[in-house]
Amino acid sequence: ETTDITELLLSRIRDVADYPEPGVVFKDITPLLADPAAFTALTEALAEVAARTGATKIIGLEARGFILGAPVAVRAGLGFVPVRKAGKLPGATLSQAYDLEYGSAEIEVHAEDLTADDRVLVVDDVLATGGTAEASLELIRRAGAQVAGLAVLMELGFLGGRARLEPALAGAPLTAL
Ligand code: AMP
Repeated sequence: ETTDITELLLSRIRDVADYPEPGVVFKDITPLLADPAAFTALTEALAEVAARTGATKIIGLEARGFILGAPVAVRAGLGFVPVRKAGKLPGATLSQAYDLEYGSAEIEVHAEDLTADDRVLVVDDVLATGGTAEASLELIRRAGAQVAGLAVLMELGFLGGRARLEPALAGAPLTAL
């Protein structure tokens, strides 16, 4: 959010052309994760968002949302809840399907991990079309919990995710560092 941290974080994100398919520029955060100053700065910035939004729990979206969300939860003193691809969670789940460019996908959460008292901040690395985030917000509501917001490292603005998410966020903030 300050220019300094933005520049530090940007300098540690690698653009990989034509991955995983032609025409896509993949935003690779592994250089950032490998740099303790950058990883710590990112964790602290996201933990500030969690505090600002009054979150009681952090949801991380599989898989890079796990890597970012778990230290944010610890730093902010909050619980961490994984949202996983279908079929990975052993307990009773809520499932939400969503459309992809070709076909569809499904994500799940353990129903008992979210309660009516929770305000949940969703964390991920990249907001692209917003489909995954939108499905996760739907899971939060279906669990009876409140949406505190969505926080990502990067937003690919040209894909229109922010506009797509407006109804699901219902006024909760979308923060892209
Ligand atoms: P979407 O549902 O379209 O917003 O896609 C979001 C998910 O796909 C996130 O979990 C991202 O990690 C991943 N993703 C999409 N596009 C990219 C990209 N260009 N670089 C890195 N990750 C991406």
